[in-house]
Amino acid sequence: MFRALVIDKQDDKQKVAIKELDESQLPEGDVTVKVAYSTLNYKDALAVTGKGPVVRSFPMVPGIDLAGEVEESSHPDFKPGDAVVLNGWGVGEKHWGGLAEKARLKGDWLIPLNKAFTPRQAMGIGTAGYTAMLCVLALEKQGVTPDKGEILVTGAAGGVGSVAIAVLAKLGYQVVAMTGRAEEADFLTSLGASRIIDRSEYSEAGKPLAKEQWAGAIDVAGGQVLANVCASMKYRGVVAACGLAAGMSFPSTVAPFILRGVTLCGIDSVMAPREDRIEAWDRLARDLDLSKLEQLVKDVSLEEVADITPSILAGKVRGRLVVPVKNQ
Ligand code: NAP
Repeated sequence: MFRALVIDKQDDKQKVAIKELDESQLPEGDVTVKVAYSTLNYKDALAVTGKGPVVRSFPMVPGIDLAGEVEESSHPDFKPGDAVVLNGWGVGEKHWGGLAEKARLKGDWLIPLNKAFTPRQAMGIGTAGYTAMLCVLALEKQGVTPDKGEILVTGAAGGVGSVAIAVLAKLGYQVVAMTGRAEEADFLTSLGASRIIDRSEYSEAGKPLAKEQWAGAIDVAGGQVLANVCASMKYRGVVAACGLAAGMSFPSTVAPFILRGVTLCGIDSVMAPREDRIEAWDRLARDLDLSKLEQLVKDVSLEEVADITPSILAGKVRGRLVVPVKNQ
C-alpha cells in the first residue's frame, strides 16, 4: 500500500483527499518509482483547486513533477536504484503524478537526476525552475548577451520568476524584477535583481510602442502585461513567454514585431524533447547557485497541499514549495 493525494469528481464537485492505494491500482508504465519529493507549481494549484481544466480524467493523482528512485523497470535505460526526475509529459493531468509515495510511468518520460542535485533540490527547481532555464536558453539562442542591456522578469517572486532571476544574475545579466508584492523587494534583490518595478505599471492597456527599455524579457504573466512588455522591448529585443498568470489573452499589435524586430519565443516545458530537458538540467547544475535555491524553497507536507494551493493561485507564495512524500 502507498499514500497518495487523490482528486475525485462527483456531480461536478471536486474532492481532494489523501488515500491509501494498492499498487495494483497504479496506471500502466514500464518504470515504477518510489517518490522522494514532489512540488507544487501553478498548474498543480489549478488541478488541486479545480480552478483550471488541468485534470483530464478522474480519479487523478496530481503532481506534474517528481524525483525519486526506480523500484522496478522493464525500460532499457533504467534499473532499480537509479535516481530519476520527471517534469510534465501530461503527468498529474492525464496520467497519475508525483503527489504520491509511488508512481508508475513511461521510462521515456524520465531523465536521470543530475548529480549536482539532491531529490529535494531537483524539486525545489521543478517544472517552474526548469522552465525558467528554458526561457534563459531561448534568450541566449536569440543572441541576447549581458552587454545588450537589462532583462525584465515578470512574476518575479513566483517560481519561474525567482529561479530566472537567480540564474540570469549569475550569468552576468542586469535583471529587473517586476512584482506586485513590494514587500518582496529584499528577497528579489538577494536573488540578484538590480532593481524592482511595480506590476501596476504594466497592467493597463498601453501604447503599441512604448519607450525602449529591455534587451530581453521572461514573462510568466501573459495578458496585458505581455502586450506591454512587447511594446517596451529595445530594437531586436527578445521575449520568452511561458505563462498566463495575468490571463490567456494577448492584446498586442504587430508594431513591436515589424517596427522593432522584436522576437517572441513561446516556451513549453510539458512536451519539450528529452535533449532540451537534459540541456536545461545541465545548465541549472552549472548556473544556479544552490544557496540561492535554498533561499527560495519551502517544504509543505502532503497533508497541507489542499489548503495551500489557493494561495498559489492568489500569487501569495514566495519562490517554490517542495513536498516530501517519502515512504515511511
Ligand atoms: P507562481 O509561483 O504561482 O508565480 C506566479 C507569479 O505571477 C506570482 O507569484 C506573481 O508574482 C505573478 N502574478 C500573479 N498574478 C499576476 C497578474 N495578474 N499579473 C502579473 N503577474 C501576476 O507560478 P509559476 O510556477 O512561477 O508559474 C508562472 C506561470 O508560468 C503560470 O501561468 C504557469 O502556468 C506558467 N508556466 C508555464 C510553463 C510552460 O511550460 N509554458 C511552465 C511552468 C509555468 P509577483 O507577486 O512577483 O508579481
